[in-house]
Amino acid sequence: MDKDIYSQLMTVLSEEKIKIDEPMSMYTTFKIGGKADFLVSPGTIDEVVAVVSLCKSKEFPYYIIGNGSNLLVGDKGYRGVIIHISTQLSHVRIEKLESSDSYKVVAESGIMLSKLSHEIAINELTGFEFAAGIPGSLGGAITMNAGAYGGEMKDCVIGATVIDETGNVIKLNKEQLNFGYRMSVIQKRGLIVLEVTFEFIKGNKEAILNTINDLNARRKDKQPLEYPSAGSTFKRPEGYFAGKLIMDSGLRGFRIGDIMVSMKHCGFVINVGQGTAADVKKLIAHIDNTVYEKYGIHLEPEVRLIGEF
Ligand SMILES: Cc1cc2nc3c(=O)[nH]c(=O)nc-3n(C[C@H](O)[C@H](O)[C@H](O)COP(=O)(O)OP(=O)(O)OC[C@H]3O[C@@H](n4cnc5c(N)ncnc54)[C@H](O)[C@@H]3O)c2cc1C
Repeated sequence: MDKDIYSQLMTVLSEEKIKIDEPMSMYTTFKIGGKADFLVSPGTIDEVVAVVSLCKSKEFPYYIIGNGSNLLVGDKGYRGVIIHISTQLSHVRIEKLESSDSYKVVAESGIMLSKLSHEIAINELTGFEFAAGIPGSLGGAITMNAGAYGGEMKDCVIGATVIDETGNVIKLNKEQLNFGYRMSVIQKRGLIVLEVTFEFIKGNKEAILNTINDLNARRKDKQPLEYPSAGSTFKRPEGYFAGKLIMDSGLRGFRIGDIMVSMKHCGFVINVGQGTAADVKKLIAHIDNTVYEKYGIHLEPEVRLIGEF
């Protein structure tokens, strides 16, 4: 089976884009995860479409990743093909919209949000400052409807080009993307984001860059960016903050192996050494149980779990 997958992948991608037994710890910001049988990094949109069509038609198990900043991969790794939408897919186009003061920005899904926000800023467009410090790819951000400091992807996205369930490339408008809190139709239907279209208006470049710097400084001050993590481990329960519930439950600094509730921000579970996915999973369950016993509130993980634990 594995030999068959490899030879089939070679029909759509060149050899250097296909890795075998690749440690997923190298592709996640948690720095955790066993080996993936195959990890492929398509260099163009056409190659993404070709490799997804192949996996679908041959029924090879596959999973899409961007920057791996919201992912926990099991210690025993992933059986199948990880399709890495990397920064090779970072092309951006900016056009003025006719009969309006707005500008359309079309970006490929592998671009990092930090790079895209910089590109938008230097073109004097405002509305994407909130995203500059989120350490993910654009594809991952649309899938998660990532947000920070009062902004969310849904506020500026007007559409996306995606691969649907049958392998066809289709365009979805904002309504069809059906964004919710850390949710979108991409997650619900398992679609694959190729390109995203935004609309922005002109702003003052200096003010935009100042806002980005200010938000990044606030992030550095409040978040344990010096340790590997996947950001906020849990979604925000309605009417509460996960970090505060965890802190008030006495779990600040609570540790299982090398996985710990951050002292700096209790909403973050961090890897302070050679942490394992099994320990992250145990700590997540322990936090949820403890908070539930004290407050009757369940915490739902925001982090996506894949592979074998
Ligand atoms: C220090 C730190 C701070 C963070 N701060 C924030 C924050 O302020 N706000 C916030 O919302 N999040 C935050 N996060 C979480 C994370 O950065 C975001 O969810 C980010 O958008 C995930 O992007 P990614 O490329 O890393 O996705 P990945 O982790 O690679 O994948 C996440 C999900 O998206 C899917 N996916 C990825 N790319 C595609 C694609 N092209 N097509 C279809 N599906 C795809 C994956 O299958 C997976 O289900 C933080 C994380 C860290 C480590």
